[in-house]
Amino acid sequence: MRLVLASRNAHKLRELRGLMAPHELIPLPDEVVLPPETGCTFTENALGKARASAAATGQPALADDSGIEAAALGGAPGIRSARYAGEHAGDQENLAKLLRAVPRGGDTRVAYVAALVLVWPDGAEVAVEGRCRGTLTHEPTGAGGFGYDPAFVPADGDGRTMAELSAEEKDAISHRGRAARALLARLGQEGRSR
Ligand code: IMP
Repeated sequence: MRLVLASRNAHKLRELRGLMAPHELIPLPDEVVLPPETGCTFTENALGKARASAAATGQPALADDSGIEAAALGGAPGIRSARYAGEHAGDQENLAKLLRAVPRGGDTRVAYVAALVLVWPDGAEVAVEGRCRGTLTHEPTGAGGFGYDPAFVPADGDGRTMAELSAEEKDAISHRGRAARALLARLGQEGRSR
């Protein structure tokens, strides 16, 4: 199936292209305007993006809404992860703010969450969620991945941060990898895998 990715995040496009194979992911056309993220959950925000893209392009649309939840912060930044340090903040500013907010030597438990939704122009929708547990390190390491990866040590790993893993290693345990495999399974069950 040919899917428009309802996102302008090049990192998500790269990861999801591998994860959603053999489906083909195409970038969102420049003229499509994505709605503001006003939902209260990852899934609501992903649905908003995918519905807008499917309506504008007339093609099935895939959307990812994701973020990091810190136990010490009651689940923040959560759905605000991309804008945690401000509306136009970059990955480094967001990560620096999280490392200041979570006390060193305190509760460093974190979880990545990804909602993936697929919306067809006829209104059909499938939504899934994937989670990945880990801890936050105050000594960020590694140059791979994106966002909070240099400080995220996955619970299912060997002590390396997400940014030190190969793309394949990250995919095997990440929130996005888990959500993508759940979505592919749902498509197979519903006979929509082509
Ligand atoms: P969204 O575009 O609102 O879904 O923003 C997601 C934000 O969550 C990203 O900008 C990152 O800050 C963070 N995030 C989501 N997935 C990952 C990941 O796989 N690694 C690191 N950070 C992530």
